[in-house]
Amino acid sequence: YFITFEGPEGSGKTTVIDSVYRKLSETREVIKTREPGGIPISEKIREILLDKGNDMDGRTEALLFAASRRQHLVERVIPALETGKIVLCDRFIDSSLAYQGIAREIGFQDIMTINQFAIGGYMPNLTIYLKLEPEVGLKRISDNKREDNRLDQETIGFHNKVVSGYNELSTLYPERIKVVDADQAIEKVVSDTLTIIEDYINS
Ligand code: C5P
Ligand code: MG
Repeated sequence: YFITFEGPEGSGKTTVIDSVYRKLSETREVIKTREPGGIPISEKIREILLDKGNDMDGRTEALLFAASRRQHLVERVIPALETGKIVLCDRFIDSSLAYQGIAREIGFQDIMTINQFAIGGYMPNLTIYLKLEPEVGLKRISDNKREDNRLDQETIGFHNKVVSGYNELSTLYPERIKVVDADQAIEKVVSDTLTIIEDYINS
């Protein structure tokens, strides 16, 4: 199974993946990975993306995310899926649709097209959307100072658009994208997520 985790800044994706990984590992073969990154080429592309200043063209950005996604998919995700492992991935195509397609207004369909080229049919079986008001997520981040975010470059309006993009995606693809209320204690977010994943795997 290919399971992706999506949501705005500070929604707890990384923490939730770590806990889900630990739990599922007790009984199954699982890997966890992240985008953009996860392997050396894609981590280098990530560095370019996080250090782009304000002068990177939006389409260039979208193509770099897609390029990073492709390399990571080919090198890391597909080999794991082919040996029967569960793959837990922090961000995937929905991030590009929400951030570049909708929030940055490059266009949903164009982002879909370049990403379909990049992933060639490897869509996630299941996507956990950690839903949270942007203000709550941004507050969580400023409270524990993360080094690799670009929040100072983006406005709250941008983050609101990201969240409405995710909301739109979850209504477009209700079978694949399952919404978890991320504005709860982290233990509850983790247990809600595990319930969805276990129901899916056992069905
Ligand atoms: O996954 P993480 O939150 O570490 O993402 C790093 C940064 O990349 C975040 O600041 C996020 O806003 C940004 N990002 C983006 N477009 C994507 C994926 C992530 O702008 N498609
Ligand atoms: Mg994270």
